[in-house]
Amino acid sequence: TGGDVTVAVVDSGIDPSNPDLGENLWVNPGEIAGNGLDDDANGFVDDVHGADTVGHDGDPADGLGHGTAVASLIGARGDNGLGITGVAWRVRLMPVKVLHDRGWGTTVTLITGLRYALANGARVINLSVNGTEPSQALEEAIRQAEARGALVVTSAGNDRQDRDQIASYPASIDSPALLTVTSTTRSGALGSESSYGAGTVDIAAPGDGVITGDLNGGFRTQSGTSFAAAYVSGAAALLAAAHPSASGTQLRNALAAAARRGGRVDQWIAGGRLDVSAAL
Ligand code: CA
Repeated sequence: TGGDVTVAVVDSGIDPSNPDLGENLWVNPGEIAGNGLDDDANGFVDDVHGADTVGHDGDPADGLGHGTAVASLIGARGDNGLGITGVAWRVRLMPVKVLHDRGWGTTVTLITGLRYALANGARVINLSVNGTEPSQALEEAIRQAEARGALVVTSAGNDRQDRDQIASYPASIDSPALLTVTSTTRSGALGSESSYGAGTVDIAAPGDGVITGDLNGGFRTQSGTSFAAAYVSGAAALLAAAHPSASGTQLRNALAAAARRGGRVDQWIAGGRLDVSAAL
């Protein structure tokens, strides 16, 4: 069910009032709540449940809904009689807000968020964001994740492009600790707006009309590669819990090697469809 693995959701934040997510929120052991101090001297005051790199404070509440939806697929609490169930029932969801409530973010907010996740022990980092600007600093942050034994899971993008030809970041960065995910429909076909790439896109997962948690305890049907990436992050958390010393690269290789071939999406990607049981 996931255990003590920390999964950073580097996104628009997480709605902490969602009862399906609140119980699974990561707690910063170095911070005393509400005392107005940066107890652990990491640059963020009262970052008890993650941080906001846009406002540069300790409040990663979500005003957009995207991060809450992604988090719910990864780790909405299971067997609690509420809402939905994430792939990993009991993970520690670390909200790292790098997107403004209107949806924009910058390379700087993204890199600051990645560094925060790594410094605070995330083993899996979900990055359902896509940008057009190449960045050496972003590449270095991904390499830092690899060196620290973390896995970064990212979305291929929803612009129906061949990622082998038209780059997007971080999706197109070449790293053994980065998994790039596209989305499939209920019939296993490539999602209608999903990007692809026989060289760049590693794996496919469901991302068409999936039910997610939303702001204020609601639910919303969503589509896109962001949500497919979330399923893969949830799967990675299960593997990480079962294998406490596995590196991000080992988690990536296990998920990629176990992915199922023989479906309609094969021709579009390097690997196959997520198979959690086989990967475990
Ligand atoms: Ca702090």
